[in-house]
Amino acid sequence: MSMKPFREELEERLAALRGQNLFRELRHLDSPQSPYVRMGNRAYLNCSSNDYLGFASHPALRVAATRALEHYGAGSGASRLVCGTLTPHQELEETIARFKGTESALSFASGYDAAVGAIPALVGRDDVIILDKLVHASIVDGARLSGAKLRIFDHNDTGDLEKILQWAADRRSSPAADAGPSQILVVTESVFSMDGDLAPLAEIIRLKEKYGAWLMLDEAHATGLYGPTGAGLAQAGGFGSQVEIQMGTLSKAVGASGGYICGVKPLIDLLINRARSFIFSTAPMPAAAATAKAGLDLIRGQQGETRRTTLWHRVESFCAELGLKNTESAIIPFIIGDEAKAMAKAAALREQGVLIPAVRYPTVARGQARLRITISASHSASDLSRVAQLLRE
Ligand code: PMP
Repeated sequence: MSMKPFREELEERLAALRGQNLFRELRHLDSPQSPYVRMGNRAYLNCSSNDYLGFASHPALRVAATRALEHYGAGSGASRLVCGTLTPHQELEETIARFKGTESALSFASGYDAAVGAIPALVGRDDVIILDKLVHASIVDGARLSGAKLRIFDHNDTGDLEKILQWAADRRSSPAADAGPSQILVVTESVFSMDGDLAPLAEIIRLKEKYGAWLMLDEAHATGLYGPTGAGLAQAGGFGSQVEIQMGTLSKAVGASGGYICGVKPLIDLLINRARSFIFSTAPMPAAAATAKAGLDLIRGQQGETRRTTLWHRVESFCAELGLKNTESAIIPFIIGDEAKAMAKAAALREQGVLIPAVRYPTVARGQARLRITISASHSASDLSRVAQLLRE
C-alpha cells in the first residue's frame, strides 16, 4: 500500500477541520493584556482574556518580575528536585498556602501541569475517578493518564453523582480478587470555564463525605474573585478544610503564570515524590514565581478588594443590560450552536473593534459553539455598554 507523503496527509487533515469550521489559528497581540489591545495596526476592546482583575500588567507585578530577573537571572537551571528550587519558588508556595489557609502548597509550570501531575499521583488502576461532564481538558487528561476507572456525572447533577458514588462504594466493599482497597476521587470546578456557572459545592461535599470519597476542586476561574480575601469558592463557603485537593492557576486573576495544588502537608510531599509533570520538568523561571507571588499579594490586599467590587458591579450592569440572570461569575457565554454562525458573529464583532472568541469543539461539545465574554475589573462601564449594545443588535 502506498502511503501519502507526510505533508499531504497533514494537509488533508487540516482541510477536514476547515470543512467543519473547526480550524484554529493564532492571532498575535502587540501590546500587554489590558482593556484595549493592539493587533496589526488596530486597537480592539478585549473581552476575551482571563485577566479578571487587570493585574497582568499591574506595576507591582512588573516590578516583582524585574527584580527577580535582576537578582536570580532568567533560567532556573534544573528541575525543582535537582537544584531548580530558588527562594521565589519557596516564597510563592508559602504565600499560596497562607492565602488558601492550607498546611502546604506546591506550584507547577501551569494549571494544566498541576492537574496531569496530581491526579495520577493520587489514583491508579484500582481506583475510581468521577468527573463532572464539563471539567477542563487538563483534568480529563490527568484522569486518563492515571488509568483509574473513569465515570462522568451530568453537569452539576448531584443526583447523578450520588448514583455513581453508590456504585463505586459498592464496588469498594466487594473488591475484585486482584484489587486492593480502592479510592474514589471526585473532581469538579468551582466556576466552569466555558459556561460560567458554579458547582453546588455544599451538596458535593456532603456526598463525598457520605461515601468516603476524596474531592479535588479546580478553582482556576474562582481564585482571586470569591471569598473575603479572594481565595476562591471553597473559602467563600467555609469548605476549605473539607476539600482534600485544591487546585488552581496563577494565570487568570493572579495575572502571572503557573498552577498550584494545596492541601495537607502529606499531599504536597507525595506530589513532590510522585507528580511526573513536577519531577521531570525544569522549574519555572524564578521571575514567574516572584510575579505570581506579587499577584497573590495584591489579591489579598486592599487593591484586590477594590477590584473585586468593581468587577461584580461591571458584571451586574452588563447582565442587566442584556437581561441575563447569570451574574455569579465573570464568564458570560452566548450560546449560538452552529460553529460557522459563531465564527461569523465573532468576525463581525472584530470588525466593530471588539475581541470576543468563538469557542468551538473540542473546547465545548459539537453544536454548542458560543461567544465567551469575560469581564474584567479594568473594563470601563461605557465600554461594556457598547459591547452589550452590539450583542443586542
Ligand atoms: N482549569 C481550568 C478550569 C482552566 O480554565 C484552565 C485554563 N484554561 C486550566 C485549568 C489550566 O490552567 P493553565 O492555563 O495555567 O494551564
